[in-house]
Amino acid sequence: MARHRNVRGYNYDEDFEEDDLYGQSVEDDYCISPSTAAQFIYSRRDNPGGYAETLEEEEYGYEDTEHSNCISNRPLTGVEKAQLESCLDHMREVLGESVAEKVMVDAVLQSKFDVQQALDFVLSQDKQNMKTKNEDTVLTGKATKGKARESQATRIESDIVPKVTKMTVSGRKQTTGFEVPGMTVEENGHNIFPPQKGFSSGDANANLGAAEILSKPVLPPQTIQPLEEPIVAPTQKRSGKAKQQIDVKAELEKRQGGKHLLNLVIIGHVDAGKSTLMGHLLYLLGNVNKRTMHKYEQESKKAGKASFAYAWVLDETGEERERGVTMDVGMTKFETKTKVITLMDAPGHKDFIPNMITGAAQADVAILVVDASRGEFEAGFETGGQTREHGLLVRSLGVTQLAVAVNKMDQVNWQQERFQEIVNKLGQFLKQAGFKESDVAYIPTSGLGGENLVTRSQSSELTKWYEGKCLLEQIDSFKSPQRSVDKPFRLCVSDVFKDQGSGFCVTGKIDAGYIQVGDRLLAMPPNETCTVKGIALHDEPVDWAAAGDHVSLTLTGMDIIKINVGCIFCCPKEPIKACTRFRARVLIFNIEIPITKGFPVLLHFQTVSEPATIRKLLSVLHKSTGEVTKKKPKCLTKGQNALIELQTQRPVALELYKDFKELGRFMLRYGGSTIAAGVVAEIKE
Ligand code: GDP
Repeated sequence: MARHRNVRGYNYDEDFEEDDLYGQSVEDDYCISPSTAAQFIYSRRDNPGGYAETLEEEEYGYEDTEHSNCISNRPLTGVEKAQLESCLDHMREVLGESVAEKVMVDAVLQSKFDVQQALDFVLSQDKQNMKTKNEDTVLTGKATKGKARESQATRIESDIVPKVTKMTVSGRKQTTGFEVPGMTVEENGHNIFPPQKGFSSGDANANLGAAEILSKPVLPPQTIQPLEEPIVAPTQKRSGKAKQQIDVKAELEKRQGGKHLLNLVIIGHVDAGKSTLMGHLLYLLGNVNKRTMHKYEQESKKAGKASFAYAWVLDETGEERERGVTMDVGMTKFETKTKVITLMDAPGHKDFIPNMITGAAQADVAILVVDASRGEFEAGFETGGQTREHGLLVRSLGVTQLAVAVNKMDQVNWQQERFQEIVNKLGQFLKQAGFKESDVAYIPTSGLGGENLVTRSQSSELTKWYEGKCLLEQIDSFKSPQRSVDKPFRLCVSDVFKDQGSGFCVTGKIDAGYIQVGDRLLAMPPNETCTVKGIALHDEPVDWAAAGDHVSLTLTGMDIIKINVGCIFCCPKEPIKACTRFRARVLIFNIEIPITKGFPVLLHFQTVSEPATIRKLLSVLHKSTGEVTKKKPKCLTKGQNALIELQTQRPVALELYKDFKELGRFMLRYGGSTIAAGVVAEIKE
């Protein structure tokens, strides 16, 4: 139960004195970092359900031309075509696939659309004759008969192709879907991506070399293609043409209509009111319509959890709702006056810290929600709460701007003294954790009542002592980070899933560079190339996307089995390095057992969570100057800065911190506690 005991019980005051390295280093040059767990999934778009319609239109469309001049050498009229279709449907029900379509069509036309007569006619024909005919058809592939068969096959195949087969890594949020014949429950759920590489391919494309795939138009099998159209239509149109180079910066300006992009993560102790606060904010912004909100209210009332109605806007899974806790990181988009915000609601419960880390690893700014109620703030902050760990983690992950929502102020009658008490306690800690005072704002709120969220509260209880911003104004005034659009392309996979059709999808935030449909990408590991067939940004298909965007990529030319959460997709010309051994500067957190050579850890890096071992303790470093104070120490203890060598079980793709801050930071966890944060100093092999 005391999984995070070490970090929670950590006396930060001891280690963050005046000019301690951490407080300073997190600033810019040193810095600490993060991690993640493989099993989380984003709330993803519900796949559009209207594919069946598209499919049907496509499937039957051919018959128009097929039968158009079959009656007395004149084209069929509209009514006749309809009659013919109706008769054919009826006959197919009776005859199934045993009779070629042309035979049926002839019979229908001869019997002048009398289906019974047509059936008698067909059935009375010499069976052997018919069989031979059919075989001929298949063998020679004559257009009409072949198509008839094909159309049946199409129908059968489309019946079994899942409309929404999201084989996510965690298996959660696997909303709708059909079972795919021949696939075990295990495959359909968690274990489709085994941890090791080098599996044989289940994907037809995987047997083709990358060059071979590129030389062909990248199209899914024709029978499945219509299902895919809503996602990749623009891609397919483009794939034949030469790719146009774009001026990304100008396009970004245009796309965002002058608004800047900001990735915002909501953090804080469980039950602080994170989901309620953001759910209510989205409702007030009009992102959730009244009818849906009414539905949530009714459903939550029925479930005996009326107070969770707003939280249900973000807590999407049954388990989350049942337990009343956020588990996965929910993702939503909303806009302020000057920004387009991607909101991530991270879980506060200690069991889901790795998920929280994944969310935070992709954030630019954070809102820390604390419960102002007496005893509750203290529970979250002092005795085993997540407030401290979350604060420290996001800072280590590179988040520098923070808004603190001092929530549930209604519970303390909007008392200024209570607000000030919390501001003082938190302020001290956040400063030690490396946040600049000027980058932290405190806002009194009531998520449940909706006070001070999107408009400044008019309540005299608050206005008599608070004149500051409301939460939305604060979000709007965050400074947008610089996007590394000019750097080579990098995207760290946060989820992998099989969607409809050929290829598969990965999601993640683009850390650097930009990407266009048709681009080739290299995945590290497994060091294989693929082609980008489609890009979706906030569920909309787009032709390009750039650093800072959370995207879903449809990829072909690679076997899904080779891609795990944590793989980095990069530009093949300027690839990221994959290694199993690297050197790093680390800051040791509060640990009870000193770290010695051979210490096993879990390396959390972006969305990677990989077992590793501390192979060498190279030196202890001075906290402020970074000078070596001791060579080859026997052990490392809490609060020390050190240079160590790490060895991972499987290759991981990393960058040197000096070259690429986002991809050069990591965290080390052991026994459920974060024991160190580090930056990559040297990649060995
Ligand atoms: P989370 O775990 O941080 O996401 O917290 P939830 O949003 O699930 O809220 C936990 C509980 O606190 C729910 O019962 C909410 O109704 C309640 N709650 C949230 N915000 C407020 C608030 O501003 N005032 C009061 N009185 N209760 C709140």
